[in-house]
Amino acid sequence: MLTHWQLLLKEVVTSPIELLTQLNLDADLLPAAQQAAKLFPLRVPQGFISRMKKGDPDDPLLRQVLPLAEEALESPDFTQDPLNESAVNPIPGLLHKYYGRVLITLVGACAINCRYCFRRHFPYQKNIPGKAAWKNIVAYLANNNTIFEVILSGGDPLLAQDEYLKACIHDLASIPHLKILRIHSRLPIVLPQRITLNLLEVLTSTTLQPVMVVHCNHSNELDDSVSAAIALLQEKKIIVFNQSVLLKGVNDSVEALVHLSQRLVAIGIVPYYLHLLDKVQGAAHFAVDEIKAGQLIAGMQNRIAGYLVPKLVKEEAGATAKQSIAMVTLP
Ligand SMILES: *Cc1c(COP(=O)(O)O)cnc(C)c1O
Ligand code: SF4
Repeated sequence: MLTHWQLLLKEVVTSPIELLTQLNLDADLLPAAQQAAKLFPLRVPQGFISRMKKGDPDDPLLRQVLPLAEEALESPDFTQDPLNESAVNPIPGLLHKYYGRVLITLVGACAINCRYCFRRHFPYQKNIPGKAAWKNIVAYLANNNTIFEVILSGGDPLLAQDEYLKACIHDLASIPHLKILRIHSRLPIVLPQRITLNLLEVLTSTTLQPVMVVHCNHSNELDDSVSAAIALLQEKKIIVFNQSVLLKGVNDSVEALVHLSQRLVAIGIVPYYLHLLDKVQGAAHFAVDEIKAGQLIAGMQNRIAGYLVPKLVKEEAGATAKQSIAMVTLP
């Protein structure tokens, strides 16, 4: 029998016609949406659509999911594997790039397909650990005692069934030098019903300290269903951080970023990272340059407390950490 969140997942909208109809949007948008959805499918949960404004083609939530003609444009610096992740992928499903931390791409799919996603061309299917690869990953971690934190990512790791997550987490918890279990997920935002009591039980059932990093780009994403899910995590003393991507037409203004941080903290989420867009083919129309990004952060710093200002970072192929981008001085 399917649980509530699994039913909601089955009902995600994948048809451009349906999305446009639900939002009373112009049928002119359809041909491009259908074309671009062939490159990377449309996928958006009903609850996320309900937070969009009807009749507004520029809605900041809609822009994150609506396939556009611009995605077919070739841009010189934008590639299929901008982070060259294939180079730091010792075992299928494992990325060991940064000191002390490894990232496991546990699940290939997401509940939502974000148009700017740097994994839109990622060879997911080859990178989901099967049984044999999982054993190899556990052995790799057991043999590397510098590693203290495991990040479950994807795709979206919370799309895994509770039983599967539980088995994985228990295997990880058997490695004494591992201390922190970090979950990188967009589900608490886009399908908050995924945060069930049973899931909380699974996450807190070992000695590993669970930490949640959610992914939200705009304050309109944070409705009551999200704050209820975050409250459940907080009851279990799970710290929740947010990472955003700086996206043209979504959150590229001081006002939008300030609202986002204020709203995050109001429901108990700590602003963590603001990422520059990874230069992935098909997403060039979302790019904001570094100078403008630095100005936006400076603008935030001038208006709100330091704890509300996320760290502005970018990922560089081959770097040993995310790269900070300097704040510019405003007059
Ligand atoms: C972002 C990331 C991490 C974690 O970096 P933090 O700075 O600890 O958040 C680890 N591994 C990979 C491959 C990453 O992209
Ligand atoms: S949820 Fe994350 S991994 Fe999934 S499509 Fe969106 S940005 Fe990409």
